[in-house]
Amino acid sequence: MSNVLVIGAGGVSAVTIHKMAMLPKIFTKITLASRTLKKCMDIQTKVKEKYNISINILELDADNVNYTVDVIKQVNPFLVLNLALPYQDLNIMDACLITNTHYIDTANYEPRDEAKFEYSWQWDYKEKFQKKGLMALLGSGFDPGVTNVYTAHTKKHFLDSINSLDILDCNDGDHGHPFATNFNPEINIREVTASSKHWENNKWKTGPALTNKVSFNFPEIGPKNMYLMYHEELESLIKHFPEIKKARFWMTFGDSYLKHIEVLENIGMTSIKPVNYNGINIIPLQFLKTILPDPGSLGKRTKGKTCIGTIITGQKNNTEKTFYTFNICDHEECYNEVGSQAISYTTGVPVMIGAMLMIQKIWFKPGVWNVEQFDPDPFMDLLNKYGLPSKTIELEEKLDF
Ligand code: NDP
Repeated sequence: MSNVLVIGAGGVSAVTIHKMAMLPKIFTKITLASRTLKKCMDIQTKVKEKYNISINILELDADNVNYTVDVIKQVNPFLVLNLALPYQDLNIMDACLITNTHYIDTANYEPRDEAKFEYSWQWDYKEKFQKKGLMALLGSGFDPGVTNVYTAHTKKHFLDSINSLDILDCNDGDHGHPFATNFNPEINIREVTASSKHWENNKWKTGPALTNKVSFNFPEIGPKNMYLMYHEELESLIKHFPEIKKARFWMTFGDSYLKHIEVLENIGMTSIKPVNYNGINIIPLQFLKTILPDPGSLGKRTKGKTCIGTIITGQKNNTEKTFYTFNICDHEECYNEVGSQAISYTTGVPVMIGAMLMIQKIWFKPGVWNVEQFDPDPFMDLLNKYGLPSKTIELEEKLDF
């Protein structure tokens, strides 16, 4: 049914390609292009062995728009799945506009030299995509992605309006390393060391990173400390559900992870300012990334579960109600299915689902959109069908922190 081009051959991409290879009637032709051809070859070999599906591979540096345009022209896909890094988002969107190709990603644009992410840069492309009859779907991972769909689903089925939204992201996986990140280390460390930011009474409130801590009893996992952080879906959700008065994002971290982050920050290893080492300019955080474990290698050794979801309080028929929607994902089960840990799995599956809905024109509108702007039901059905089932429970009380 459709020819797709995936850019980036990392942890998330490996899962998405496995999942697409299981659906050869929908994803009839798959091409994987990335900076390091060897990583494309590894995924190509695994997919051939497992499903007897041949994917095409190409080398591509998506920092170069002309190079990206040439590759897209050569492949001529219906859709480009951008699973490289947030730094490449705008280049790949430009290349899609030049080649008249639809676009999907999982993380919003970030300039390389500033640890800052926001949707405005990509939202500014809306008119250009609309004029060409092209669609760009932003943030179709888990968070952002599924958490946005959960919010739209809760509003559609259980509430008349939303007062407060809390996104709770718990990873109780143990990979046995003293320190490792479960997705790209550079992006992960930029995110967790940023100031916290949440929405309250029509304005953003900021605070120091990783200081506001509460304990929460996660289903099937138990009590864990989670920390207030800023996450990109807060920006789109308060825009698309303007009645929200309070929106927060929480993530769990173990003491060992936090201790390592503190030391690395204190000695300057998380800095993105270049330093001169033996006549070469290097960026400490990029150097750190090269010596940390590759998140793609964690799958085999990670045990435990993730639990990511939304707790939403709002009004239904003038009564206050609170709903908790979540998914539990088991690292070892993900590894057995596709050879990856649950963080790559929980991101790689939703981007395959977003792509499928675009290809089937179930979610299809020219312009640049976030996932909560579409009917959540087909996405929720496909999550249940393709490995990320969700559960919604009504809580007796709203959160008291
Ligand atoms: P990885 O670092 O494992 O993979 C990124 C891949 O992109 C690598 O193969 C890398 O190549 C390639 N790449 C980097 N730069 C370029 C370039 N200029 N041109 C072509 N390819 C390039 O990251 P993940 O798979 O963990 O994450 C992928 C994306 O998913 C990230 O944007 C991340 O922020 C996002 N994400 C989203 C989540 C969500 O829930 N929404 C959760 C987790 C991740 P090379 O190997 O040569 O470096």
